[in-house]
Amino acid sequence: MAIGWIKDARPGTPYWWEVLGEPAPEDPLPAQCDLLVIGAGYTGLSAAIAAHDCGAQVAVVDAGIPGRGASTRNGGMFGAHPRLGWEELRGRFGADTADRIFAEAHTALGFVRALIADEAIDCDLQPTGRIQLAWSAAHFAGQKRLAETLRAKSAVDVQLVERAALSIEIATEQYFGGIVFPEHCGLHPAKYHAGLLAAVRRRGIPVTGNAGVQMLERHATGHSATTPKGQIKADKIVLATNGYTTKPFHWQARRVFALPSYLIATEALPADLIDALAPGRRMMVETRARHSYFRISPDGTRVLFGGRAAMVGVDMKTAAARLHATMCEIWPALKQTRLSHVWSGNTGYSFTHMPHVGCHDGVHYAMGFSGSGTVMAPYLGAKVAWQALGDPRGATAYSDTAFTTHWLHPGGRPHFLQAANLWYRSYVDWSENRQGRKGAR
Ligand SMILES: Cc1cc2nc3c(=O)[nH]c(=O)nc-3n(C[C@H](O)[C@H](O)[C@H](O)COP(=O)(O)OP(=O)(O)OC[C@H]3O[C@@H](n4cnc5c(N)ncnc54)[C@H](O)[C@@H]3O)c2cc1C
Repeated sequence: MAIGWIKDARPGTPYWWEVLGEPAPEDPLPAQCDLLVIGAGYTGLSAAIAAHDCGAQVAVVDAGIPGRGASTRNGGMFGAHPRLGWEELRGRFGADTADRIFAEAHTALGFVRALIADEAIDCDLQPTGRIQLAWSAAHFAGQKRLAETLRAKSAVDVQLVERAALSIEIATEQYFGGIVFPEHCGLHPAKYHAGLLAAVRRRGIPVTGNAGVQMLERHATGHSATTPKGQIKADKIVLATNGYTTKPFHWQARRVFALPSYLIATEALPADLIDALAPGRRMMVETRARHSYFRISPDGTRVLFGGRAAMVGVDMKTAAARLHATMCEIWPALKQTRLSHVWSGNTGYSFTHMPHVGCHDGVHYAMGFSGSGTVMAPYLGAKVAWQALGDPRGATAYSDTAFTTHWLHPGGRPHFLQAANLWYRSYVDWSENRQGRKGAR
């Protein structure tokens, strides 16, 4: 079905960027610092704040305009529960690490909430809660097990919603129940990034854009980084490049790969239609592998609908058509609705689906957020800075997970995703649609 666009639609530009003014004037690149942060998204900015507040002289560089990576492109769903279940974590990393990961889910949320409050970041933080919607009866059974484990192993608050009660959350017959995380929130990702950047600049930390690190040399006493804006010497390095990691960070680039995610925004809709579609007004995600996630915009006027329109780069109109079609399977009332925006960004996936904090060859890094970084990125950004400076607050279970590579990914473009894309869009979609979906419409 051909989809309609509003007159001044700008495919490729995130809806969130509408509020951004001109980028701030660039800080010149200093000649040296104690700790150089590479990457100015949520991870890098939080690392810079934590390191500065320990007394270090910090500088931040970014390859592009600071923030134009995933940190101003995401869905603005704020919250973190471990991406893997406790049993799976135990199988991979042992019971102690699994326990500590579950415990840190709550600590991380508290840490980032305090950061937002302390720095007075105005980012439309709304206490919406998040509901994860079960695509099949089996997925809902899995959510019941997850709720039990979360209650036993962490302070994370969860509530189950049976299928019969789902209409108070969402107007659709597609799902088989859901699990609500009442402490999760919605926010405006670009305002959130702008607030973190302002907190960094208030501290007098230079942030230099268009200064991608092209070469990093290690010396007996530190490092020197070469950028198009010149060279900078630093005792310590924190790498915060997640889904945009490339050369010269070959070791990390073999362990984190760019998996694109796409989002559309509808035109402004009547308030009564929004109320009818999403009476719960929560952040909404689903359990199927297509991984749709959707929400109402912070001003209450639009549906923002995201997902894996493809696991590889596709053109914006193709992505928009696929997301629009999936949105209309859930809400047929939106069939004639026009779109105002479609955009994409790189999530940084690890082969364990979990972030990792560590140090390789003198480079401290925090990455692999695997599509969930509004909380974990600033949280682990602070952790990696503390680790680099030898501060005991740097301790985290995310240093005891593995950061593995795979022979299919020698670095560079993740070509294996072409095959994965075919597999997911054909077999996995088909299989998820026929199992345990009796009664879905
Ligand atoms: C479309 C989309 C939707 C998402 N939705 C959600 C959501 O709703 N909730 C959630 O919790 N998470 C979500 N995420 C994930 C979340 O946005 C990320 O995990 C988070 O922003 C990662 O922050 P970061 O600072 O690590 O990386 P980024 O913000 O991606 O920043 C990395 C930076 O590194 C820079 N860089 C790269 N190489 C170099 C170099 N050599 N030298 C200098 N700089 C370099 C890049 O220019 C970039 O600015 C989503 C992600 C995407 C893409």
